[in-house]
Amino acid sequence: MDLSVLVLPGDGIGTEVTREAVGVLRHVAAKWRHSLKLAEGLLGGIAIHRTGSPFPAETARLAAEADATLMGAVGLPEFDNAPPDQRPEKGLLGIRQALGVYANLRPVRTYASLVDSSPLKNHLVEGTDMIIVRELTGGIYYGTPRGIAENGAETQAVNTMTYTRAEIDRVARMAFRLAEARRRQVTSVDKSNVLENSQLWRRVVNEVARDFPDVKVDHMLVDNCAMQLILNPRRFDVVLTENMFGDILSDEGAVLAGSIGMLPSASIGARKPSGAWVRLYEPVHGSAPDIAGQNKANPLGAIGSVAAMLAYSFGLQEEAKAVEKAIETVLESGRVTADLRPAGIPLGPPATTEQVGQAVCAAIG
Ligand code: NAD
Repeated sequence: MDLSVLVLPGDGIGTEVTREAVGVLRHVAAKWRHSLKLAEGLLGGIAIHRTGSPFPAETARLAAEADATLMGAVGLPEFDNAPPDQRPEKGLLGIRQALGVYANLRPVRTYASLVDSSPLKNHLVEGTDMIIVRELTGGIYYGTPRGIAENGAETQAVNTMTYTRAEIDRVARMAFRLAEARRRQVTSVDKSNVLENSQLWRRVVNEVARDFPDVKVDHMLVDNCAMQLILNPRRFDVVLTENMFGDILSDEGAVLAGSIGMLPSASIGARKPSGAWVRLYEPVHGSAPDIAGQNKANPLGAIGSVAAMLAYSFGLQEEAKAVEKAIETVLESGRVTADLRPAGIPLGPPATTEQVGQAVCAAIG
């Protein structure tokens, strides 16, 4: 099979984890005799340095051409005080919007060998297996008007949260379809006691639910959900929520999975005229400037994103399962990066980013 993939390593540890993820992709392509066509593009801080824009037109062109895009992470501390449209993160919002990937799927699973890596008690996290479906191209991150205005003596900042019925409907359908193939439970998360946006969200989710009679739906306020994710994570199957709530809640997944470095994601958009779905894959974590350049970053979220790409974009289920199995084998071997080491237990030196990538390839065989 021909696999055409655009790689956008980005900044900081984005480049390090992406190198290992691409290594795994090459290994899989060679083993199963697929023809892999890789292109590399610029996104984020590195793109600002080289072209002046966080999302250059050339990157947009390459992404539109590729069957799938694999991203690392963006963000450089030197841009922390730059205006929002001149920051690396603008590149991230730009590519998501350009590709129209409106549903971000974030699986959160607790591996048996990692329960000690979570700061939560084992009996709480054991058996956690959920997918957070985050709306990705609407809401307060994109709404206008936005900006900071000086009005005489006062300075005012404005952001706008906006959703249309159609935007809520399509992401809700994605969540219900996923639930049909899982434990048939959708928990929709909103703030309908305060926000009109959430009242429309809840209404549309209930309408969509009628088309999926085998799936149970419940609604939870976002503040309660933040608590329940930690108190009783096993109660969740598919969690459906808007952009900013999903951004924040899914970092709690890092506590359940043992490290933010473990979490993969897949973003899904509309169908191209060819019939193929537009898809973007990236680990959930950021560019981690505190550990960048030290060969310390956990690459398993990026490698898990490759497994998702093989399954969703190319329908290569056997190859995807082999990557997932190899991740488990490496976790069970204990040769993991420092973020997965339980505190207070004396062990040998942690594995490097590169060693974990190589170990995954070796475990695939
Ligand atoms: P972060 O995810 O980069 O880091 C949070 C903490 O988790 C840090 O202590 C970091 O060392 C650790 N961490 C993250 N990934 C890890 C990995 N793979 N292995 C081991 N440890 C890991 O979030 P942040 O510090 O809030 O943000 C840093 C920069 O990244 C900012 O510029 C932010 O805007 C950007 N960011 C980008 C994305 C993205 O590109 N998708 C997502 C989140 C944040």
